[in-house]
Amino acid sequence: MKYITTRSSYGQSKAETKGFQDVLLTGLASDGGLYIPAELPQFSKEAIRQLRGLPYNELAFTIIKPFAGGEIDDTTLKQLIDDSYSTTTGFEQSSFSHRAVAPLHQIGSNEWIMELFHGPTLAFKDFALQLLGRLLNHVLTERGEKAIVLGATSGDTGSAAIEGCRHSDALDIFILHPYQRVSEVQRRQMTSVLADNVNNIAIKGNFDDCQAMVKQSFADQSFLPDNTRLVAVNSINWARIMAQVVYYFHAALLLGAPDREVAFSVPTGNFGDIFAGYIARGMGLPVGKLVVATNQNDILHRFFKDNDYRKQPLEHSLSPSMDIMVSSNFERLLLDMLGRDGNRLAQLMETFQSTGKLQVPEANWLEIKNLFESCRTDDADTCSTIAQLHRETGYLADPHTAIGVRALQELNLDPRMPKVVLATAHPVKFPDAVEKAGLQSPSLPPHMSDLLQREERYSVLENDLPELQAFIRQQTRHA
Ligand SMILES: *Cc1c(COP(=O)(O)O)cnc(C)c1O
Repeated sequence: MKYITTRSSYGQSKAETKGFQDVLLTGLASDGGLYIPAELPQFSKEAIRQLRGLPYNELAFTIIKPFAGGEIDDTTLKQLIDDSYSTTTGFEQSSFSHRAVAPLHQIGSNEWIMELFHGPTLAFKDFALQLLGRLLNHVLTERGEKAIVLGATSGDTGSAAIEGCRHSDALDIFILHPYQRVSEVQRRQMTSVLADNVNNIAIKGNFDDCQAMVKQSFADQSFLPDNTRLVAVNSINWARIMAQVVYYFHAALLLGAPDREVAFSVPTGNFGDIFAGYIARGMGLPVGKLVVATNQNDILHRFFKDNDYRKQPLEHSLSPSMDIMVSSNFERLLLDMLGRDGNRLAQLMETFQSTGKLQVPEANWLEIKNLFESCRTDDADTCSTIAQLHRETGYLADPHTAIGVRALQELNLDPRMPKVVLATAHPVKFPDAVEKAGLQSPSLPPHMSDLLQREERYSVLENDLPELQAFIRQQTRHA
């Protein structure tokens, strides 16, 4: 399989194309665009029918294999996937704590919640990062290379990335979080991992300061030790999207695919998770609707409602993992909206860069609206939805998931179409919202019940790029 970037025209001879391994290791393309497959693998109705009843890991192998494009041999790929989604409770290997990996829980006559929070860090990001860490380790080891993973986190990404990379000899991971500005559970999930290759850095600044330093470090990599490369694990990395496509198939198959269309409601921030649903549809899965569910940081909702994608100041919400000003993966959908014309996309992104807003031609926008619906939910309605769902079904949802549930209540989708809300995090990670909803925060699951007593290790640094880069050089094991 060949990958192109969103900013090079499809089919254009000088377009930069890459194979799976390079895409995995690169993150952002040199033209500033994001990698996408030149063509999606296709699954016919009959092929989809053959997938019914497969356990999660076997389904994952079938879906992911064509994306790896022969660059990872089948036996190895199968093993990496089996390890990533293993549910046996062995020491260190145990990855997911529910036998179904991504169980469905019914909350209405035709509504389900797909629980994506049974992984080691209790958020859906484990689905991608368990596999990404293993893929990176394999490819680097095979090439005899070392890499530094560098990322900024406001919460869930950091811990999932650390869990995914902690066992790798080929990776040193550095995760920046804003000093004293992440919740205690979220901080401890990162800082209690005491592996040699894991470096947690609390930056005396806010999340934007952390992210700015990460971006600058990717833009100018001259600070790196010799023979190391820098790898991105945020959702611009294609392999993350790829891993997430699997659970759309998993849910739809359980609810009647390929013979019945299924709708998904997705709590959305950077548009990565929901874009995986769009890819699943492009591969032949009968996805009837994709619901973009945002909090008050609603740039995506405004786009789908009014064709007005416009940057606005960040608001801190009770669903912090969706607090974004712009959605980094939205560019991938925009490319399709522009008829896969990468030059036009590059122009549009330039306009956005200079003016902070963009629009697409009316006809293209109307067309995409056949597939997507959107809904915005503020903090008050998030809490009332948590309370109402609990009252009416006994189910306790985290605030991100509640926003997905709320969107289905607000929108009038075909009552006969099964609807699945993606539950992106376990409610124990967000006690503030649960308590504001008048409910008691649940206790930590058994495998982390001692989290608040575990030893922590992290360094506190000033918001200063040279200081950070010197620290990275000094702490890298292979330098
Ligand atoms: C990251 C995250 C999201 C948003 O996912 P995107 O792929 O950025 O849209 C939603 N909920 C939770 C709990 C998350 O951690």
